[in-house]
Amino acid sequence: MKVTDHIAQANKTLISFEVLPPLKGKSITSIYDHLDPLMEFKPSWINVTYHRSETMFKKKLDGSFEKVDVRKRPGTVGICAAIMNHYQVDAVPHMICGGFSRRETEDALIDLNFLGIDNVLVLRGDAAKNEAAFEPEPDGNRYAIDLLKQVASLNSGIYIDEDILNGGKTRFCIGVAGYPEKHFEAPNLNIDLKRLKEKVDAGAEYIMTQMFFDNSKYFAFVDACRLAGINVPIIPGLKPLTNKKQLSILPRIFHVDLPTELSEEIMKCKNDAECEIVGTEWMIQQSKELKQNGVPVLHYYTLGKPKVIWNVVSKLV
Ligand code: FAD
Repeated sequence: MKVTDHIAQANKTLISFEVLPPLKGKSITSIYDHLDPLMEFKPSWINVTYHRSETMFKKKLDGSFEKVDVRKRPGTVGICAAIMNHYQVDAVPHMICGGFSRRETEDALIDLNFLGIDNVLVLRGDAAKNEAAFEPEPDGNRYAIDLLKQVASLNSGIYIDEDILNGGKTRFCIGVAGYPEKHFEAPNLNIDLKRLKEKVDAGAEYIMTQMFFDNSKYFAFVDACRLAGINVPIIPGLKPLTNKKQLSILPRIFHVDLPTELSEEIMKCKNDAECEIVGTEWMIQQSKELKQNGVPVLHYYTLGKPKVIWNVVSKLV
């Protein structure tokens, strides 16, 4: 079922979760072990992130280095199918531009369609670790909107090969990312919002946000979107703090601010267990306020911390 249908049919705030594919070599049971305790909350869907290859230099016996492309977390398409089979719940694969040609993307979309997957969250992806700025593949998509248009074309039965006439139509519900605190490369929030509106005008049916720790930033973002004529559901993405290192890692990697009050409480903690208590309590309060304000969905980035997420969501039901 499509994400937008879940939202349209809901009479309360929905819950959804996000998982990463396991590192190569681990089995699917690691995903089930992760999700099993969370399934009691009856999530409407589970997102599965997508990860590009990383270029690494491996030292050879003769002392020289060999350049290799390593995909540490393959399997998004397979994991989505496994989750749907195992739990009878919808899976939402993320699709990214980075590292993929348009033909590879088309093939992945065909696989997803054959598997009965109705949703995709389309993203650009970040720059590869060895690149200073994002570079698409020579025949790949540059921006999320380009990937979105490719999915929308397939929904109309238009494939890359022009000789495919009357091609089967896919029926993907397309989501995109939004940034309450602005995407770090955008010159300002207004221009970022203009880009977001372009994605919605091109067919995005909902927006999922980057994590944030101050609800006023989400509420201001929703207001600004509405003012800009963006009227699709805006799903808040949420992640609890669980250790002190995140005070610098999250602003550096995800370009989000951490409120002073939360940062000071975390700084006072003597160990990770104490940080987890502070982060969980903060996330419970954030979630309650969002719920009271009628958000359509609370989407949790579970990222290896299912117990923490369980502790949050169990306080909301
Ligand atoms: P875009 O919408 O393409 O925007 C990127 C930048 O380009 C923005 O600054 C935008 O303002 C600008 N821009 C957009 N269109 C144009 C244009 N036509 N001309 C000029 N500038 C333009 N990454 C992964 O690798 N895998 C994942 O699974 C993943 N999941 C994510 C899930 C969510 C909810 C979020 C918020 C992020 C996720 N990311 C993931 C990270 C994401 O790929 C990065 O944040 C990336 O830097 C931007 O992706 P985007 O889809 O927002 O890009």
